[in-house]
Amino acid sequence: MIQTPYYLIDKSALLRNLQIVDRVREHSGAKVLLALKCFAGWSVFDLMRQHMDGTTSSSLYEVRLGREKFGGETHAYSVAFADHEIGEVVANCDKIIFNSISQMQRFERFAGSKPVGLRLNPGVSCAAFDLADPARAHSRLGESDPARLLSVIDRLDGVMIHNNCENRDFDRFDALLDEVEQGYGDILKRLNWISLGGGISFTAPGYPLERFCERLRRFAETYGVQVYLEPGETVVRHTTTLEVSVLDIGFNGKNLAIVDSSTEAHMLDLLIYRETAPIGDGKGEHSYQICGKTCLAGDIFGEARFDRPLQIGDRISIGDAGGYTMVKKNWFNGIHMPAIALREPDGSVHVVREFSFDDYVSSLS
Ligand SMILES: *Cc1c(COP(=O)(O)O)cnc(C)c1O
Repeated sequence: MIQTPYYLIDKSALLRNLQIVDRVREHSGAKVLLALKCFAGWSVFDLMRQHMDGTTSSSLYEVRLGREKFGGETHAYSVAFADHEIGEVVANCDKIIFNSISQMQRFERFAGSKPVGLRLNPGVSCAAFDLADPARAHSRLGESDPARLLSVIDRLDGVMIHNNCENRDFDRFDALLDEVEQGYGDILKRLNWISLGGGISFTAPGYPLERFCERLRRFAETYGVQVYLEPGETVVRHTTTLEVSVLDIGFNGKNLAIVDSSTEAHMLDLLIYRETAPIGDGKGEHSYQICGKTCLAGDIFGEARFDRPLQIGDRISIGDAGGYTMVKKNWFNGIHMPAIALREPDGSVHVVREFSFDDYVSSLS
């Protein structure tokens, strides 16, 4: 048995999402790039690259990872590139997308023959949480003023618009795209490509894929552009679990189960977005609060129900631990870093990476 904690990536589940990606590529004509900031588990890139066109990045390290480990088309974007990074960024990308006109003016001469894009912030978005809303007041994410955008249009090959966030509602996506077209149609007509970013939950059950593809196709035809999508979360949703063991059981008005992992260290977004992890099927008559082992009082994964009372040593699977988890794991409290294991389609499970005390020490000095 593999020592817990570990993240378990189920390749069959991943393939199910990737087959939906294939349908979208085929029926819409859009190219689909993996957003590495959400998921950078390169041990499954060999599978993913058969169903995706490449990667998009938000930093020098991500663009290098995309180039070296994924291949295909590699988009470089960053909220701000530094002088010492720009050469290596350009060397590793196929397109470079600047966040502001001032970054573009500073660095476009380094782009050589590579296409240059800008992030367009249309000022409208679908994001339930202010922290993750690119259209929030005083946003730094992209250029919004059509006149300013038109002033550099001759030097622009394309734009990237990222204004959806876990959006499962096709009609909302459709309405937002209408607003972008109304506000920026003159600009969009003059480009070769438009990236519509990530945040569209098109692998969710019941998502109207045909209407989505038709909308993307119509958008591409109207402006004569190649459309790109940059999904992260929707590609890896429900593909990965965090496997943990129960270390102690207690009671304080509720049954408490302490496990050998931590929200802050291994599933940080649960804390940031005040969410609880999906654990089990929500059935069974024995309910427990599943708690992390750090000294943070609110280190709680969530509530779960089981058919029988939990025992020390029992294993628990914490669901949906692919997106924005493994890329954010850290050494808080010196908690043992989860290993990474793959479940192959034939059911066999093997570890592809383990972490040790030496990794903890070498992450510091
Ligand atoms: C975060 C991000 C993505 C991926 O978003 P998901 O919600 O994971 O699909 C894509 N593009 C940009 C610019 C982003 O910032």
